[in-house]
Amino acid sequence: AVSITDLHKSYGDNEVLKGISIDIAPGEVVCLIGASGSGKSTLLRCVNRLEDPNAGTITVGDYEATDPDVNLDAMRREIGMVFQQFNLFPHLSVLENCTITPRRVLKQSQADAEAEALKQLDKVGLKHLADRRPEQLSGGQQQRVAIARALTMKPQLMLFDEPTSALDPETVGDVLAIMRQLAQAGMTMLVVTHEMGFAREVADRVVFMDQGVVVEEGPAAEVIGNPSQPRTQDFLRRVL
Ligand code: ATP
Ligand code: MG
Repeated sequence: AVSITDLHKSYGDNEVLKGISIDIAPGEVVCLIGASGSGKSTLLRCVNRLEDPNAGTITVGDYEATDPDVNLDAMRREIGMVFQQFNLFPHLSVLENCTITPRRVLKQSQADAEAEALKQLDKVGLKHLADRRPEQLSGGQQQRVAIARALTMKPQLMLFDEPTSALDPETVGDVLAIMRQLAQAGMTMLVVTHEMGFAREVADRVVFMDQGVVVEEGPAAEVIGNPSQPRTQDFLRRVL
């Protein structure tokens, strides 16, 4: 469960988030849509405190993310994040990419970490490529490794920031299929995406942001299929 309440974030005198409130129930999938510069990435980065908000509160499970005394390392273990750029370690194999954090942070044995990594790689259909280097994989395969890597930490929340935007069109579907599978398995997910088809099909709720505020939110069929706000209608006219 995630609770974001009246979140404000400024860079200098540029107020990027102007009082955002979003709640996500356990197992719920929320897709965040909105034009470039509306503050979507900033919001995601505040959730795991890669950015410090100026005001407002965020709780993730038992963690008060905005409490100055929060145990950030412990909290971040519960939050998997997948970016547009996969950020795999280029000098490590696929398998090593998936074992390094569980070994270092969770102090797992090599055997335990490898067993879990292979299980997650199998789920994303890439167990057979475990010995390859990232550069020997397609973009879509690298992104699936990044998802498997995040899942080895057994997070209670997954944040996705435009995970398919940097991919060749033919590999986008494979990544979305993995995300759909994860959603069906009950993962709590906050997904920034321009894939309106995915949002319509998978999201329990869609949140449309514009210029740092939530303009409209609700079931995908309403927000994407039949938006009530002019700003949402304008945005969708441009992307659909
Ligand atoms: P996109 O769809 O292009 O990814 P976005 O909705 O994710 O856009 P953000 O990246 O959150 O938007 O940026 C929102 C605003 O905050 C932009 O005006 C951006 O220039 C500004 N901004 C983001 N990060 C910083 C930073 N580190 N320093 C200063 N300004 C920033
Ligand atoms: Mg962004």
